[in-house]
Amino acid sequence: MARKGVVAVLDRPEGKYELKEYPLPDPAPGTVLIKQELGGVCGTDIHMYHGHLPGITYPICLGHEFVGRIAALGKGITTDFLGKAVKEGDRVIVVPGVGCGKCYWCEIAKTPTTCEEGFAYGFFSDGNKEYHFTGGYAGYVYLHHPRTAILKTDLPLEVGVLLEPISVALHAVSRSNIQLGDTVVIQGSGAVGLSCQVCAKLAGAAKIIHIGGPTPFRIKMAKEFGADITINIAEVKDPEERIQMVKDKTIKGIGADVVFECAGAPQAVREGLDMLRRSGTFVEVGHFTDVGEVSLNPFTHICNKNVSLQGSWGGEVEGFVRGLPILEKRQFPYEKLITHKLPLKRLNEIMQAPDKGYILDDKESLKITVSSETS
Ligand SMILES: [Zn+2]
Ligand SMILES: [Zn+2]
Repeated sequence: MARKGVVAVLDRPEGKYELKEYPLPDPAPGTVLIKQELGGVCGTDIHMYHGHLPGITYPICLGHEFVGRIAALGKGITTDFLGKAVKEGDRVIVVPGVGCGKCYWCEIAKTPTTCEEGFAYGFFSDGNKEYHFTGGYAGYVYLHHPRTAILKTDLPLEVGVLLEPISVALHAVSRSNIQLGDTVVIQGSGAVGLSCQVCAKLAGAAKIIHIGGPTPFRIKMAKEFGADITINIAEVKDPEERIQMVKDKTIKGIGADVVFECAGAPQAVREGLDMLRRSGTFVEVGHFTDVGEVSLNPFTHICNKNVSLQGSWGGEVEGFVRGLPILEKRQFPYEKLITHKLPLKRLNEIMQAPDKGYILDDKESLKITVSSETS
């Protein structure tokens, strides 16, 4: 294949995006070349723009949430991960994380998201001369590893692109020990928070208390995605008041059964633990980058409270496979979360949107997406 494709490359933390053109690879046996359609901008991408993820190197091609069409199939690929026949032109969702399948983490601990031999598309340095098309902010993505899982779908792009955050939520909920009828607190109104809310509800939560915002649009989305009670942190500014409000809505004022921290702010961890009942479960699913520390009291917050503390890292193939029918059911208005669909050349502005009050083109953003168009 002699054609060329574009990759959006970030030169350094808080640097500049440049669109670079490279020759498109001919997919090797067992691999796939994707014509990118839509990529989601995740909080993790924004943090990586600021250099908050230790261990990654720049220049880098970001974008780990993406949907595209098969541009070319390497020899031997005839089906997707679930055995559905695939051909050129089919729309597929890509599972960005690829575990090695043979290390201690993959085989013994059975936690492939902690595999140290694996990798994920969207986290590659562009200095890698072998493969340039390694992330979703590009015209094409080369799925160069034969273990990469793809899932064929007819979902609209604006829904399909949310499968990655849904997979993260499924992983988190599977670690939460939710019981039917539980009262669950969700901290954070981004895509992960709302996805955890959807999955917690489907897992049997009877009452969802959503703490987030800070804008009316995000609170409106929280309600449309099934929150029974919402608390906007811009309106109720005092954490002690929010903790009391949550407790007042629980049985005998003891606190919530399960708390999902999806805000990614260190202080939310302490607040969330204060909202949790004794013997409850706290799931940390908001800190995918290093944004600082928080002080806890091991007696009051953990030991005396008899809590289960769960960290939840990333999404597994299982989360994509179980998440796809959840999205396909269209029980919630997923497409409303996509507030922006912008060309690659606007990535510099996109990365700065959080610093500008999440406003882009005079419109509040929730999930910003990037199309493969360059202009
Ligand atoms: Zn993400
Ligand atoms: Zn492994």
